[in-house]
Amino acid sequence: RSGAAANAPRTVRAPRGPVRTAKSWGAEAAKRMLMNNLDPEVAEHPEDLVVYGGTGKAARSWEAFDAIVRTLDELEPDETLLVQSGKPVGVFRTHEWAPRVLIANSNLVGDWATWPEFRRLEALGLTMYGQMTAGSWIYIGTQGILQGTYETFAAVARSLAARTGADESNADLAGTLTLTAGCGGMGGAQPLAVTLNGGVVLIVDVDESRLARRVEHGYLDEYTTNLDAAVDWVVAAKRAGAALSVGVVGNAADIFPELLRRGVPIDIVTDQTSAHDPLAYLPVGVAFADWKVEASADPEEFTRRARESMAAHVAAMVGFQDAGAEVFDYGNSIRREAELGGFERAFAFPGFVPAYIRPQFAEGRGPFRWVALSGDPADIAKTDQAVRELFPENAGLVRWLDKAGDTVHFEGLPARICWLGYKERHLAGLRFNEMVASGELAGPIVIGRDHLDAGSVASPYRETEAMADGSDAIADWPLLNALLNTSSGASWVSIHHGGGVGIGRSIHAGQVTVADGTTLAAEKIERVLTNDPGSGVMRHVDAGYERAKEVARERGLNIPMLDG
Ligand code: NAD
Repeated sequence: RSGAAANAPRTVRAPRGPVRTAKSWGAEAAKRMLMNNLDPEVAEHPEDLVVYGGTGKAARSWEAFDAIVRTLDELEPDETLLVQSGKPVGVFRTHEWAPRVLIANSNLVGDWATWPEFRRLEALGLTMYGQMTAGSWIYIGTQGILQGTYETFAAVARSLAARTGADESNADLAGTLTLTAGCGGMGGAQPLAVTLNGGVVLIVDVDESRLARRVEHGYLDEYTTNLDAAVDWVVAAKRAGAALSVGVVGNAADIFPELLRRGVPIDIVTDQTSAHDPLAYLPVGVAFADWKVEASADPEEFTRRARESMAAHVAAMVGFQDAGAEVFDYGNSIRREAELGGFERAFAFPGFVPAYIRPQFAEGRGPFRWVALSGDPADIAKTDQAVRELFPENAGLVRWLDKAGDTVHFEGLPARICWLGYKERHLAGLRFNEMVASGELAGPIVIGRDHLDAGSVASPYRETEAMADGSDAIADWPLLNALLNTSSGASWVSIHHGGGVGIGRSIHAGQVTVADGTTLAAEKIERVLTNDPGSGVMRHVDAGYERAKEVARERGLNIPMLDG
């Protein structure tokens, strides 16, 4: 391809099966996972190389995509490819234990870390937005967030039960109505997560095609353009104690205040529009069809209007909270954007990490995921069973694997996610590697995780909001995590800026490791999958969390200043 054709969109699908064209499984896996991120079944807007999360991309351009794929096929097993914000920039001789790919995405020096500066550089073709698992090639479709969302809503159910003095251990969402918005790549997990917890949910999105896609993939029961009908259905289901998810086409900044005004009996409110990027949030008064044109014609004015709408949207959320609902920010920076839009009480409700997730992070627990490079769904069923057998005493995990096996529609390569912690993950990884070696699985397994994680993120509006020692914005931790994973044998490692909360608001790192059935892979897996969650425990010990200290003592993590 040359000239304009070199950058023409094309349809991408990762190769499947046990035969590789690259010279190592590390390089082959990185190539397949890059391609899988851009598979139309997986990516939200593959023609623009956008995987999810507003403008989160897998490669800078189609030319860069081709060059990455070509280089990975030629890469020697003792070489490392460097990728700078989606563009392959160099190949260096390293060694077999080194990662095959090192990635840095969207990083900017502090004073320059603003959206206008980022966009200026992006327009010059010098950078791209990597989000979290988009530019680090380990996005697995909406399932990737489903389990975390399911767990979060289970925690919300326990929180509601605690308020009324009911039994928390058996709490579910039956008889409750949740209101949320944003049914995109990540947000699209919300309706299924609520119904899996037995509740009713109304989800608002301005883009009808997003709601239709979730219905098609079984994440949403039905959708309508008629708000009155949607309200009737969800209120009837809430009264009947039935589980139901309904989408409604509209702007959240209109619909949330309207539902508050009508006094609809809403128990839980959150949001997953792409608020972290004001150009990816549609302001009231801009027609859906004019969105892209208006955003690029005058980004500053569009940002102002988006923030004004977010202020109305968040004001309604606080209104629901004042009326007694459980309200939380779901990790998209909407409180800060609403504050910038002039709404002073935006931080009246908490972020979901301090509200529900932090105790899990203290144990190094977080979303752990794996993908079958064979393309055979039977490999995932077999690994699910292996994880059940490894952790039979973990009832929540077993219940999740059963539900996921029954309900999750695979997007792209078959994959699974579950939450495992320090001194658990490596057991799963080593078992998968044995299953590849013995031929029980039809191909290698790729093992990675989200950047929503215990040890690899500095993000004061999300993962590190309200840390016990006030260390929310200290970004040494994700850098140490990336260096540690690089030193431990990961197949590819990435350092990103911005992610789910936007430019200037986070630094985070990712790792992916391949189980190809070899002894070398087993040695790497043991180290990476022990050390990576171990760095999460370390981070929480350092911040003073007692549970993290107990975990470090019980599971033998060497923290030089553990006792002061
Ligand atoms: P996405 O871009 O795929 O989807 C966002 C959706 O919001 C789109 O469907 C869009 O049409 C809709 N939208 C935009 N403006 C709207 C408005 N005014 N009213 C109603 N709908 C509107 O993004 P995504 O991958 O679903 O991520 C959503 C947000 O959640 C992002 O900010 C992301 O960074 C954040 N996120 C949170 C977590 C978490 O764990 N909590 C994880 C990943 C991403």
